[in-house]
Amino acid sequence: MLLESAGSSRASEIVADLRNVAEALYHPFRLVAYWDAQAGGRHTCPQTDRGEECPHEGPPEESGHVPYAQTVEMELEGSLELYFPHAEVSVYLGAPATLVEAIRPRRPTKVK
Ligand SMILES: [Zn+2]
Repeated sequence: MLLESAGSSRASEIVADLRNVAEALYHPFRLVAYWDAQAGGRHTCPQTDRGEECPHEGPPEESGHVPYAQTVEMELEGSLELYFPHAEVSVYLGAPATLVEAIRPRRPTKVK
């Protein structure tokens, strides 16, 4: 889906604004991570939060490189990426725990 602004207004490139747009469009999904290419690849990084080296920067063919989308999916429970090309920002959304619980398949109950 590509949204374009009308007239000469300029769309925001601020991550917090893009987060608000994404969460409004995909309620009740919430932001779990972002990647800001214009800010030199600033991103939510669980590895550096744990005091480890960031495995996301550098070329993909480098040993130890981990694709960012993989970290978002496996560690941050993100399931949706929205890319804003004018800002070169990706925001990643995840379902709130209550929604995940509601849509999780239930075990069939045994009938005796
Ligand atoms: Zn990182």
